[in-house]
Amino acid sequence: MTCKICGAEAVPIGSKMGTHHKQLFCFERCESCGFTFVANPWTDYAQIYNEAYYRGEGPDPWIDYVFELEHPESTIRIHEWQGILEVVQQLTKVSGQTKWLDFGCGNGGLVRHVKKAVGCEIVGFEEGWAADQARAKGIPVMRESDLASHDGTCDVVTAIEVIEHVDDPVGVLQRIRKLLKPGGVLFLTTGNAKPQRGKILDWGYAVPEIHISFFEPETLSKAMQKAGFSTQNRGFLRGFDAILRYKILKNLKKREAGGWESLIPWGPVTRMVDRTHQVTAHPIGIATDNS
Ligand SMILES: [Zn+2]
Repeated sequence: MTCKICGAEAVPIGSKMGTHHKQLFCFERCESCGFTFVANPWTDYAQIYNEAYYRGEGPDPWIDYVFELEHPESTIRIHEWQGILEVVQQLTKVSGQTKWLDFGCGNGGLVRHVKKAVGCEIVGFEEGWAADQARAKGIPVMRESDLASHDGTCDVVTAIEVIEHVDDPVGVLQRIRKLLKPGGVLFLTTGNAKPQRGKILDWGYAVPEIHISFFEPETLSKAMQKAGFSTQNRGFLRGFDAILRYKILKNLKKREAGGWESLIPWGPVTRMVDRTHQVTAHPIGIATDNS
């Protein structure tokens, strides 16, 4: 198949049976830009991202959106929300006038957290069951049909663990670019495929029912640049310790923050974990002036 990032020819690197949805998923890799992708993704999104998925009964058993929505102060997710806000505050000034859109916001936990913490204008974008749950709680979550009215108005877009789910990453990045003002900031998180070279099928993140696009930092830079961003590599910014703290606790299946986990020296622990997984090596996107 042709690489969706750079147009070079990708080669098959193996296949993997889905654990939740019994289908053989074929992985291909582009040697030119490092993009790895599932060539035959399961695209019945209504089937994948249903209530069971968000309850942690789907392909990702570690997620727990229902608890997070009901317990925003005690869920481990609060570490991630705090960390994201801290990172974004180092990328741009966040004030009451800042317009921030969380693209692929799930049930809007980050939206609610940031609104409460800094009072800026923040909205989410999501479709499906999780979005309905958020709206029922009064969290502003837009539908696809509302998105165009926000074009060119955003200072910040976040896309937290979103890009690995989509089969047209450049198209999604272009959609995000349209939402931003020139100079606006895109902060996204996704796994880093670079340390997994040669063993990507064994990577725990390679859950092919849901994760279908895998990026090395250079691949993501290329995709962002193609979509109208300049890129910056800022490394381990303050806040990544909290983001990684959440990820580690999620993998340990811990649900509530506090208790023994607050005794862990997270600073050195998260730096050590990042040396292996290198999630902070991914670029930040700055919307270029496309006039
Ligand atoms: Zn490529």
